[in-house]
Amino acid sequence: MSENQLKDNIGSTMFKDKVSICRCPEYKIEILADAIENCVAKIGGFKKFIRGAKKILLKPNLLSPSKPELAVTTHPLFIEAVIQLIKKYSGPGCSIIIADSPGVSTGHTKKELLKLYKQCGLTYLDRIENVSLNIDCNYLSVSFKDGVMLKKMDVIKPALDADIIINLPKFKTHSLTRITGAVKNMFGIIYGRTKTLLHAKFMDTGKFSNMLLDVYLYKKPVLNIMDGILGMEGEGPGASGIPRNTGLVLASSNALALDNVMAQLMNFNILDIPLLRNAKERHLNGWDPSVIELCGGNIGEFTMWDYRIPKISPLDHIAQNRVLNTYLMPFIRNNLSVSPYQDKTKCTLCGICIEICPENAIEEEDKKLVFDYKKCIRCYCCSEMCPEGAIELKYSFIGNLIFGRKNIK
Ligand code: SF4
Ligand code: SF4
Repeated sequence: MSENQLKDNIGSTMFKDKVSICRCPEYKIEILADAIENCVAKIGGFKKFIRGAKKILLKPNLLSPSKPELAVTTHPLFIEAVIQLIKKYSGPGCSIIIADSPGVSTGHTKKELLKLYKQCGLTYLDRIENVSLNIDCNYLSVSFKDGVMLKKMDVIKPALDADIIINLPKFKTHSLTRITGAVKNMFGIIYGRTKTLLHAKFMDTGKFSNMLLDVYLYKKPVLNIMDGILGMEGEGPGASGIPRNTGLVLASSNALALDNVMAQLMNFNILDIPLLRNAKERHLNGWDPSVIELCGGNIGEFTMWDYRIPKISPLDHIAQNRVLNTYLMPFIRNNLSVSPYQDKTKCTLCGICIEICPENAIEEEDKKLVFDYKKCIRCYCCSEMCPEGAIELKYSFIGNLIFGRKNIK
């Protein structure tokens, strides 16, 4: 038996990660609190995870200033319900801070953070006793010797100061990484614009996803509770995605196992998810469905067989081959992968995409956006950050001939 088989075997016989699942049809605080409490009870209950912590960081998905009904961000009532439950199960003197480093369109300043909280409907949470919305914009550069892609990272201060982190991701697809769930949500502990640099540094999806694993492993949340009540399908994770009533709450102490279940519920083949492929290569618990115990039902009864998954061209395999990567990738990028285009009917020329593009591949000329596709690395940050959903992702003429479709929407 090889060393890798031995490691897999040890993992499968000794330990099963639990992921719990509950139905929850709507955002009503009492219904939510019940569903979340039941869901966490199935994996041991809040007390087990809080364990006397005095400073708890809640890490929602606050990708961009978006109204909750767009399904881009964790719903404020979901966060409020979790706060109620933490208060119920924690000791006196426990403080809760809500923090995220939002997507690259939102500057990491107090003013921008306050605007973000307001537009995401979170401002009122600050008025709950012992609860605060983070306005500390400091970060520290930390070393991570076990990192595979990142040995150093810039981490926001509240994430370093907290005794424990409770991660509150959304149930969403992602046009670059296929899914954005619990592991990717932890990318939000990385300071503002450092994230843009990391997008540019790790251009292929496999490397980018491997980097996400480093961030997650550096600061593992003790508990992950997923807001899957209003999920997102299609070209997520921003306003280009389509909200969908998914009616679920999921929880696990293992973010990878939780993402694995989410991917199965979206009807993905799990090894089509770069993050899970990387996790398999790194022998991390959570990549293998046979070593996950689903508490609350079986996958089949919850799977959404018609879930709209993002359709990008199969670049991952090519990107891993050095020769193909050097000679074929430029052609593939320009012709066979989907590219960003301006939807003039929606674009307000706000300039966010121009500002955040890590390759400076977008310019405005005569009230039109001009994309330099030779520079564009197809990171899709522009689509992710556009507040109007005005970046369409389409195949080129050759891509359409080969794949036989006009665009991926
Ligand atoms: S495409 Fe979106 S982000 Fe870019 S200028 Fe238009 S509205 Fe703004
Ligand atoms: S144009 Fe969009 S997809 Fe291309 S590099 Fe810039 S942000 Fe990324």
